[in-house]
Amino acid sequence: MTTHAAPQALPSVTLPVSLDEAVAALTAMPAAVPVAGGTDLMAAVNAGLLRPAALVGLGRISEIRGWQYLDGQALLGAGLTLARIGRPDFAALIPALAAAARSAGPPQIRNAGTLGGNIVSSAPTGDTLPVLAALEATVVVAGPGGARRDIPVSHLLAGRDMLGPGEVVGFVRVPLLHAPQAFLKATGRTGPGRATASVAVVLDPARRSVRCAVGAVAAMPLRPLEAEEWVASLIDWDGARGLVPEALTAFGEYVAAACIPDPAPDEAGETSPLPPAALHLRRTVSALARRALGRALS
Ligand SMILES: Cc1cc2nc3c(=O)[nH]c(=O)nc-3n(C[C@H](O)[C@H](O)[C@H](O)COP(=O)(O)OP(=O)(O)OC[C@H]3O[C@@H](n4cnc5c(N)ncnc54)[C@H](O)[C@@H]3O)c2cc1C
Repeated sequence: MTTHAAPQALPSVTLPVSLDEAVAALTAMPAAVPVAGGTDLMAAVNAGLLRPAALVGLGRISEIRGWQYLDGQALLGAGLTLARIGRPDFAALIPALAAAARSAGPPQIRNAGTLGGNIVSSAPTGDTLPVLAALEATVVVAGPGGARRDIPVSHLLAGRDMLGPGEVVGFVRVPLLHAPQAFLKATGRTGPGRATASVAVVLDPARRSVRCAVGAVAAMPLRPLEAEEWVASLIDWDGARGLVPEALTAFGEYVAAACIPDPAPDEAGETSPLPPAALHLRRTVSALARRALGRALS
């Protein structure tokens, strides 16, 4: 591990070479903040929102920069860059995660930004998050004394299981489903941009289930569980697995209404219509969900 002293106004930077060294450095310096690619963290520093006293850089920890197979799952290092995840060999493994990573920001952001940073930042527009939610991925957290604990990614995103002092995200466990999956994203502009809405759909033939997560429309990805269950019951899992266009459309509408519900009735029992912006968002989600499921089934 190397530590660079810095002029008074600048934070010191520690560069551990293992997860346990990173945990030790963070434990020894409670005011220190971990930094991976720095694309979110430095944006916060530049905007004056964050002034870390010390930084613990994760970029030299080789054990979290790759992936391996373990008991039917992929164990992804938190330090995998979005660019690496977007490459064809990774896309063959977890296609929806690769599609999400490819859609995230311009190339310079994808070259530096990491999976772990995307998860810990937990921005509603984080592109990997709906995919991880649909895959029911688990985060492996490294803590003091060599401790490792698993947290469902949805718990972490919901803030139900925040990282404790000295803890860092080491890995992400993703079940390998060996079945089609899709990620689609709408942005408010052409070219790379933050999602206004995104949808991940994964098929799980072993459990005869369809899992769907909608990103960017709420603080964390939403799972429309009833719509998932309904559409899974329509699919001929032992046959062609296709669905008629009307069923795909109904699925899209079901998902969108679950994620962007009608306003609650007022005291007189009257329901006012959805505001135009919410109606537009609902239509966007509906189209994304219809197309994502269509792609996964085609
Ligand atoms: C111009 C621009 C465009 C962008 N566009 C998109 C986009 O389209 N889609 C999208 O999803 N994101 C986008 N982002 C956001 C960002 O690039 C991603 O969230 C990226 O994945 C963050 O990773 P990082 O390694 O740079 O995180 P960092 O900035 O290094 O860290 C982010 C946060 O996570 C913490 N952290 C990082 N790694 C760990 C770890 N292993 N354990 C514990 N804590 C950790 C840091 O302390 C910090 O709080 C954009 C950012 C910019 C600046």
